[in-house]
Amino acid sequence: MIIRSPLPDVDIPKVDILTHLFPDGKPVSNEPVWIDAANPQNHLSPRQLLLWVKRLALGLDRLGIQHGDIVMIYTPNTIFVPVAYLGIVGSSRAFSAANPIYTVPEVTHQLKNTGAVCILAHPSMVTNAVQAAKAAGLPRERIYQFDDKPCAILDGIRDWRDMIAGPEEAESYQWKRLRGEEAVQTVATINYSSGTTGLPKGVCVSHHNLIANVEQTIPIRWPGVDFTKGGKANERWIGFLPLYHAYGQLYVNLIATKCNVPVYVMKQFVYSDFLRHIQEFKITHLQVAPPILVMLAKRPETSNYDLSSLKGMLCGAAPLSKELQNLVSRSFNVEVKQGWGMTEVTTGSILQRTPSDSGTVGELIPNHEAKLVDDDGNEVGYDTPGEILIRAPNVCLGYFKNEAATKEALSPDGWLKTGDVAVVNKEGFFWIVDRKKELIKVNALQVAPAELEAVLLEHDDIADAAAVGITLHDEEWPRAYVALKDHAKGKVTAKDIQLWMKGKVAKHKQLVGGIAFVDEVPKLASGKIQRKVMREWAKRDRLVM
Ligand code: AMP
Repeated sequence: MIIRSPLPDVDIPKVDILTHLFPDGKPVSNEPVWIDAANPQNHLSPRQLLLWVKRLALGLDRLGIQHGDIVMIYTPNTIFVPVAYLGIVGSSRAFSAANPIYTVPEVTHQLKNTGAVCILAHPSMVTNAVQAAKAAGLPRERIYQFDDKPCAILDGIRDWRDMIAGPEEAESYQWKRLRGEEAVQTVATINYSSGTTGLPKGVCVSHHNLIANVEQTIPIRWPGVDFTKGGKANERWIGFLPLYHAYGQLYVNLIATKCNVPVYVMKQFVYSDFLRHIQEFKITHLQVAPPILVMLAKRPETSNYDLSSLKGMLCGAAPLSKELQNLVSRSFNVEVKQGWGMTEVTTGSILQRTPSDSGTVGELIPNHEAKLVDDDGNEVGYDTPGEILIRAPNVCLGYFKNEAATKEALSPDGWLKTGDVAVVNKEGFFWIVDRKKELIKVNALQVAPAELEAVLLEHDDIADAAAVGITLHDEEWPRAYVALKDHAKGKVTAKDIQLWMKGKVAKHKQLVGGIAFVDEVPKLASGKIQRKVMREWAKRDRLVM
């Protein structure tokens, strides 16, 4: 049974993303769109952004960075991140962002894995960037400081403003126009995801994928509004979602540009600042993940702020209970709608169009087909749980330099295995009921068990290890089951291992769900960890925690 979007198909032009956002001949707005929430005098309009984008693009040309090369950014959110994104992607290079809280080994891994030829690093990350570049063999001269204000030379690393072209010469810069299959096949972004199994992998998203997801989302958010004919969104957003993740990229870098929606960009998420900004800037709509709804519902300081400007919230990126969704909706008198997506579908595939208190994640967005299959790959019917498979123009090209993982995830006729289990009813509404892939979602961010296991196995006293997610108080955390080598039994403690992990992986990957010592990690004869058993252990242990 193939489920189709109830909505008519939308037109998805086969051009490059910059041409799509800034069609030739169309006036470009000079109203602020990206506004620094901490200092609202600091802002960029689409017209200013486009000039910065051209300046960066020309600078990259002069550095000899080729079309198709990968440029990495390593920075918290600033109003200039959309400039970096569109400057890199718009000039036919691929954009790959590292999480600003990554440790040096994590950045090194991403640098090596992508083969990035240049890094734009926030001044606070320059030291890490220099170490990672050294370990990855990237010349120091290819690191630039990147901030929303000019930076003095630090550690011998210059400001990106020294590398870009002047405004006059950039004005007439012509980016490489992509047409037809070139737009379909040219990689625009490489975000990281572990998919259904194994280590994080670079997800190759094309220009066409990006345009598809923008055009599929707009009619759901603003039915009937034609932005090409001067339609207005009449919304104000707050940009706290990390811009190294597909969710933030779609809304802040792309939809905000296309629809001229002002976004108050937050460098760092501090809950009281977030509330203050909503009040001060009369924010109308939020794109959030479930942990934000938990804060809105439970933190006492919430009631100190006037949040009455809020009209709607979209919640995605991790499971949200209908109880919490309905509680927030009632308490703030706003529409809280859910959406489902993953990095491999560019950002989203299922969205709620109309309010509902049933916990549904909504319906397929335009130009979508889906089917649900059981463990043997047989299609299941309505109201029966099955893994979601998606076929749509926003489904990625595959994993970067990883043909085996691409083959495993994508069938030759274009179906993507998502690893998420859903039920769908006859009206086409989906509910996410389980996750069969290995992924752990902490604070809505991905943590790959295989990555934690690889790090744990580097420890001299550990014979074997398996990681799994454990849900405590509505939130998911990584937990490890560790078999120590004989000489370490009774000597090495969980605390020793926790301490050791600190320097190895970012904060959200720490083993907050605890470490339990076991004699053996349950494995199949093939050596594969029995993930189902691990999940059962975590469920059992949850009861006594
Ligand atoms: P990412 O690639 O980081 O966006 O993570 C995608 C994964 O997050 C999905 O495959 C799901 O496991 C989970 N996810 C995203 N949205 C939802 C949702 N609305 N409900 C449950 N899980 C979700």
